[in-house]
Amino acid sequence: QDLIIAIDGHSSTGKSSMSKLLAKQLGYTHIDSGAMYRTVTLFAFQNDLIENNQVLVDQLVPRLDEILIEFRYNADNNCNETYLNGVNVEEEIRGLQVSSMVSPIAVIPEVRDYCVALQQKMGVNKRIVMDGRDIGTTVFPNADIKIFITASAEIRAKRRFLEYEREGKTIPFDEVLANVIERDHIDSTREYSPLRKADDAILLDNSNLNLEETVAAALKIIQE
Ligand code: C5P
Repeated sequence: QDLIIAIDGHSSTGKSSMSKLLAKQLGYTHIDSGAMYRTVTLFAFQNDLIENNQVLVDQLVPRLDEILIEFRYNADNNCNETYLNGVNVEEEIRGLQVSSMVSPIAVIPEVRDYCVALQQKMGVNKRIVMDGRDIGTTVFPNADIKIFITASAEIRAKRRFLEYEREGKTIPFDEVLANVIERDHIDSTREYSPLRKADDAILLDNSNLNLEETVAAALKIIQE
């Protein structure tokens, strides 16, 4: 069966990890749409289009066509990695600098249109699991399966905190929690294509589920 599976939800719910495993089990391609907004954010930093935490929108928008985003498969870790104009930026786009500016970048309508067009192109052959914020509402409103994942902000911040710690980065818990809450707020209150559960999406709260249990719950939803 050739399906489009849309996974939306709040940040740090483990959406991407879960989508990656789900895609692997189904023999599908996983596409992390958030990586695209992160890559645009990195481009903005690299080109001095962010000043004092303000995005220079008028200067960024005309330069969107300079941004080539690709996902290339790395056989060593069995993962798709993100490339910006031919350079592997997978690690850089996950840092706190990009994380702290990605939501303001993602509110810009032209940035959204640019990323959504790319996402829709990647979905033409179906057999994809795409995770993000508006996949089931805007990108693929006719997706075959829609799941909306959430968990409490504290639990999500704790997961992110431990992730940073594993990477050897010590970031105060309060700072990580503040970033999680702030991104939720910006994502769900923006005017253009806000984060919201599609009416026909199935809600999955994984506050008390680990990664394997979340994947199992999603598989059950797909098979039902
Ligand atoms: O999923 P991830 O946390 O990597 O996404 C980073 C940010 O990109 C989100 O906080 C959100 O602002 C934005 N985003 C979005 N729409 C998507 C995916 C991500 O607005 N489909």
